[in-house]
Amino acid sequence: MKIGGLEKFTVTDYPGKISCVVFTVGCNFRCPFCQNRQLVNGNVEEIDEEEVMDFLEKRQGQLDGVVVTGGEAMIQTGLIDFLERIKDMGYLVKLDTNGSVPETLEKTVRDGLVDYVAMDIKAPLSEYDRACGLKVNTDKIEKSIDFVMGLESYEFRTTAVPGIIDEEAVEKISKRIDWAKKFYLQQFRPKNTLDKEFEDIKPLPKEKLERFKEIAERYVQDCEIRNI
Ligand code: SF4
Repeated sequence: MKIGGLEKFTVTDYPGKISCVVFTVGCNFRCPFCQNRQLVNGNVEEIDEEEVMDFLEKRQGQLDGVVVTGGEAMIQTGLIDFLERIKDMGYLVKLDTNGSVPETLEKTVRDGLVDYVAMDIKAPLSEYDRACGLKVNTDKIEKSIDFVMGLESYEFRTTAVPGIIDEEAVEKISKRIDWAKKFYLQQFRPKNTLDKEFEDIKPLPKEKLERFKEIAERYVQDCEIRNI
């Protein structure tokens, strides 16, 4: 596992749980609006996996869960072993993913290594290449969406990036995840973006996100705005 960060305490990243966050290095997407430039490009000082395990051992009984995020955790070759070790310590695991590796996603969930999945939906499927900065196999995204929809605990989330997400895009995304239990619309933060030009883009006003929420609520069971 290539680990590039460890946030030792959070009450906001895993719904209803006290957790820590492990950030993995590298991603198979290149979303221009990505706010984790250093992680995605691998320009971070790596943390030894054993150091993370020592920390988790010490926090047993104090933290409920571990959030594994990226970059994209699904592309890590040591992911399964890593999750097994975390589960052996009794932690709940939340996994954040871009949905591009449905085979690994399904395996980790079916093997009981993941308790909560948060999947990004970057844009309507027809716009994925532009939103993700490279050619994306959207069949894999569709497969992940269908799998996640059948889970007990999950969320979908879309960052409201100006120029990529508008009312039509929200409608298309919401239709695709029709009756999803939870959909978060996240405010875009023009900071530390992969494409530096995105740092000059002004986030959409709150009223616009509220309008997006109204549209999404025609389809999903519950929609909330995050990071406003
Ligand atoms: S925003 Fe895109 S590039 Fe950044 S970590 Fe997520 S999937 Fe990768």
